[in-house]
Amino acid sequence: MIMRNFNIKVNDLEKNKSMSITNSIKHLIEMFQFLDLRRFDQIIISKDVNIEINKIKKSKLNKNSSIYAKVITTIINDKIHILLILNKIFALTLIKNEKDEFLYKNALHVFHHELAHIHDYNKKIDIFEKQMLGEKYYGMEAITFPLAEICWSEYIANYVSSSSTKVNSFPLVTAQTLASLLISMGKEIKIKIMVFKSNKNRKDVFDDIKKDIEKILKTAAYLLGYLHGLNITLAQLCEKTEYIIERSTFKDTWIVMSHELSVMRSLYPYAWDNLRIYKKLAHCTSSYYKRLGITLKEKESKELYFVVM
Ligand SMILES: [Zn+2]
Repeated sequence: MIMRNFNIKVNDLEKNKSMSITNSIKHLIEMFQFLDLRRFDQIIISKDVNIEINKIKKSKLNKNSSIYAKVITTIINDKIHILLILNKIFALTLIKNEKDEFLYKNALHVFHHELAHIHDYNKKIDIFEKQMLGEKYYGMEAITFPLAEICWSEYIANYVSSSSTKVNSFPLVTAQTLASLLISMGKEIKIKIMVFKSNKNRKDVFDDIKKDIEKILKTAAYLLGYLHGLNITLAQLCEKTEYIIERSTFKDTWIVMSHELSVMRSLYPYAWDNLRIYKKLAHCTSSYYKRLGITLKEKESKELYFVVM
């Protein structure tokens, strides 16, 4: 049964469309009741996901985003609430359509992935509620821990939702994306690191490198979620990607990430007790910086600095 106080708010759509979307979504949520959907009490459908996030979080994300869906949390009267924001074009594909079953199945998988994020949020709130409301990271950890948290979230969301996709669909595309990122960014990162080495005041260059690294690690985490969830090897999914990883500076990081994420999953959620659970995965992210030539260091005051090879 759908929760009594559940609210679906549809913006920017005419009434009959808005009714069919609301009905489809209610049906889907009931289908996925086996996930932990406590604290989840609102869906907002809108033409731009970022605009809604900005309104709620008072953030300044770019408008005109192409994001399909995003799960966020808000605090109302000291209690954490979870809400899901959906792009209206994407939400329309959640209405079952016999003519285009392919589109519907893909949309269903994306929706499943988002509900898996909600499931994961609930597990984490149970364990880390206080830290989630307050704790900040300093020094090196300000770079490595948030990244480890993102990698875990995408890994577990894909692991949990892998049952609603097929090997040659999202998993294969993710493997191909990782391969092309490693090829295209590999060269670019080297050039950017040379620029950064010659002028370490160029924070903009470092931020750019950081973004590239995050993209690679996040895509790898997505892919590992699928591989572990579907219980297949990378060679079975896409030999080309395996070959490219094998020959790249990413090779060792890939192996360690796969291992650490499996260990975290084997302890999840009952043996997780504080944010240190991310420590080894965070270390793995700083090792990747090092392999690329940037060693992250911090002073005793926790001020971050870099040694560039
Ligand atoms: Zn996600």
